[in-house]
Amino acid sequence: APRLAARGLVHRFGETTALAGVDVDLVDGGSLAVMGPSGSGKSTLLHVLAGILVPTAGVVALGGREVQSLSEKERSLLRRRRYGFVFQFGQLLSELSALENVALPAMLTGSSRAQAEEAARQWLGALGLAGTESRRPGELSGGQAQRVAVARALVTRPEVVFADEPTGSLDQATGHDVMRLLVESTRAVGAALVVVTHDAQVAAWCDARIDMLDGRVVAAGAVPGSGVGP
Ligand code: ADP
Ligand code: ADP
Repeated sequence: APRLAARGLVHRFGETTALAGVDVDLVDGGSLAVMGPSGSGKSTLLHVLAGILVPTAGVVALGGREVQSLSEKERSLLRRRRYGFVFQFGQLLSELSALENVALPAMLTGSSRAQAEEAARQWLGALGLAGTESRRPGELSGGQAQRVAVARALVTRPEVVFADEPTGSLDQATGHDVMRLLVESTRAVGAALVVVTHDAQVAAWCDARIDMLDGRVVAAGAVPGSGVGP
């Protein structure tokens, strides 16, 4: 069974239909780019798949178990324990060091401080950030801060990583670096990856993509030469 599967997703905000019947399948270790113009429903799809929003209709299943009917509290626990998130910017806590930012989700899911900091140190090293442990986000470059965010998303060894425009605030070369590390390290923990982007070069790092328009998937398929970048 796919790690994450969605069938017939519909989501309305009042009069606005943001999703008009979307199906998605995501296998372990697979990566999916969600593309489309502004307003096409990409963020709404990500939020519904991640259990942040409950769909108006349709089913989301994680490992064969439906999640859209869980309580708010259960969905919150699910997100914390089994998912990782990377956003465009602003997700790091400015008063904490890089190491503390990465260690925090591990501590919130039951690791001791020492275990969490050791795991954080290893992730920072794996992402080329050895030496930045004690810096605060404001003392990091944009690319370094996004790599810290990737480490933070992976330190709990999630089953699915959700990224919304993870390279949106970076120049192209730095963005490619961050995408390569995001795809490689997500695969290394065996997780699946969903990336919302409007950048075809970012999508080229994923092994499949869907193109959205007006809340529908208008094209879907494998990305040729996937996993090697643009
Ligand atoms: P995208 O991520 O592709 O830009 P969104 O999923 O953000 O698209 O939005 C899809 C549609 O739903 C748009 O028409 C947007 O204005 C609308 N929408 C998104 N979020 C809300 C909200 N919280 N309240 C009302 N309308 C929303
Ligand atoms: P994106 O840049 O990913 O398309 P947006 O800037 O459209 O995201 O949306 C940012 C936040 O605002 C999201 O939480 C979204 O749900 C909300 N939002 C988007 N459109 C509307 C809207 N028309 N009314 C209220 N909230 C909205």
